[in-house]
Amino acid sequence: MPPLDLPAVPLTGRSAAEIVATELASFSGDPVAGSPAFRGGQEAADAVLAHLDITGYAATRNEVWPPQRRGASGLSPFIRHGLLTLPRVWEHVATAPRADREKFRDELMWQEYSRHLYARLGRSLRQPLRYGVDPASAWTHDPWDRRMACIDLPLQELADTGWLVNQTRMWLASQWTVRGGAGWRAGAAHFHRHLLDGSHAANLAGWQWTVGSATGRPYAFGRWQVERRAPGLCQGCALRRACPIASDPAPLPAPPVDPDPRLRRDPDPRLTAGPLTPVHRRRPERVLLTMESLGDDDPALCAHPDLPVVVALDPALLTAWQLSSKRLIFWLETLLDLAARRPVSLHLGPARALVDAEVAVTFAPVPGFTPLAAGAAVLHPWPWLVRPGPGPLTSFTAWRRGLGTPG
Ligand SMILES: Cc1cc2nc3c(=O)[nH]c(=O)nc-3n(C[C@H](O)[C@H](O)[C@H](O)COP(=O)(O)OP(=O)(O)OC[C@H]3O[C@@H](n4cnc5c(N)ncnc54)[C@H](O)[C@@H]3O)c2cc1C
Repeated sequence: MPPLDLPAVPLTGRSAAEIVATELASFSGDPVAGSPAFRGGQEAADAVLAHLDITGYAATRNEVWPPQRRGASGLSPFIRHGLLTLPRVWEHVATAPRADREKFRDELMWQEYSRHLYARLGRSLRQPLRYGVDPASAWTHDPWDRRMACIDLPLQELADTGWLVNQTRMWLASQWTVRGGAGWRAGAAHFHRHLLDGSHAANLAGWQWTVGSATGRPYAFGRWQVERRAPGLCQGCALRRACPIASDPAPLPAPPVDPDPRLRRDPDPRLTAGPLTPVHRRRPERVLLTMESLGDDDPALCAHPDLPVVVALDPALLTAWQLSSKRLIFWLETLLDLAARRPVSLHLGPARALVDAEVAVTFAPVPGFTPLAAGAAVLHPWPWLVRPGPGPLTSFTAWRRGLGTPG
C-alpha cells in the first residue's frame, strides 16, 4: 500500500479534547471544551435515534423555553455528518402519529431541499436567490443587542452547547438582518463557526429564507412570538419596558435580483446528483470519509469492510473558518468511535491529496467534493432521500411540486 504524503494526527490513547488541544488548537479561537449536550460518534447517534419519540412534535417543535417544552428532535448534528442518513431517519418514524410524522418528514425534506440547492448552485448559494440586498453589506452597530433576553438566551446557548432550535435560529437571523439591517454573511459565518450541525447548505438556505430571498417576503420576528414560544422570558428582560421588537416592523420588500438560471432548471442533473451506482475504476486500498458522511452507513465504508479509513482536515479551511472547539471535538469523538471498529488515520491537508492513494469514497453533494470525484478508485453514490432532478429550486414549494414521493 503506498504511504500517504500528508502528516498524520496520532489518535491512539488520547481523548478527543486532548487531540484538539494539542494538534488543532491553532484552528480554534476558544477554550477547548466539548458540548455538554451532544457527543459525536455512531454510538451516540444510534442512542439518540433509539430514544426518539416524535409524538407531539407537530405542536411542540417550535417551542423554545423552558427547554422541557421543546419538541425538536436534536438529531441535526448527526444528520449533518451522515451518522444518521435522511432515508434511515425517514423510515424510523414510519409508525409515529400521522400529523407528527408528516410535520417531521416535512422538516427532513427541508434538509434535503437545502442539499439540492447547494449541490446545484454551489458557492452561488452565498448570493441572494431571487430577491435581496448585498449579503456582505456593512452595519454600524452589532444588531445582536445582548440586553434583549430573546437574543442573549440563544447566543449563550449557542456558545455553551453548539446547538439551537430552529425558532431561535430564525430570531437571531431576523434580528441580524431584517431588524438590524446587517448583511447576512457575517451572521451566517458566526452560526457556521459554532453550530455542531453547521453546514453551508442548510445554514445558507436558512439565512436566505429569513431575508425572504426566494419569495421577497422577509421574516420579522416580534415580541408576540417570544411570549408564545418562550413564556416568561420577557419578564426578566432588561428591555421589557422598551422592547425593540414590540411592534411589527413591516419590513421593506427585498428588491429583485437576476437569479442564477440554474435555479429554474439544472442543465446537468446527473453531475449534481453524482453516480446512481458505484463507479469502479481501480482496486481501492483505503476508504476516504468526508465530513458529509462519517457514519457506519457510509456507502464506501459498507462496501469495503476490510479497508482502513482515512480522513483529511484541511488547515487552510480550518484557518479560514476558526470553528469552535466544540465542533472539532465532535468530529474527533466521531473518529475515535469509528476507530474502535476500523483502523482510522487522520491527516492534516486537503482531501484531494489523499485521492491518489487509491481510495473508495462516497460522492458528497458539496462543491468541495468536485476535485475528488474524478480521481477516486471507486466512487459510491450519495444516499439521497430524493434524487435531484432538473426541476425548479425557486422555492421549497416549487421544488416539492416537482418531486416524486421519497423512500
Ligand atoms: C438561519 C438558520 C440557519 C440554519 N443552519 C442550519 C445548519 O447549519 N445546519 C442544519 O442542519 N440546519 C440548519 N438550520 C435548519 C434548522 O434550524 C435545524 O436543522 C434544526 O433546528 C435542527 O434541530 P432538530 O434536529 O431538533 O430539528 P427537528 O425539528 O427535529 O427536525 C429534524 C431534522 O430535519 C432537518 N431540518 C429541520 N428543520 C430544517 C430546516 N429549516 N432546514 C433544513 N433542515 C431542517 C434537520 O436535519 C433536523 O435534524 C438553520 C435554520 C435557520 C433559520
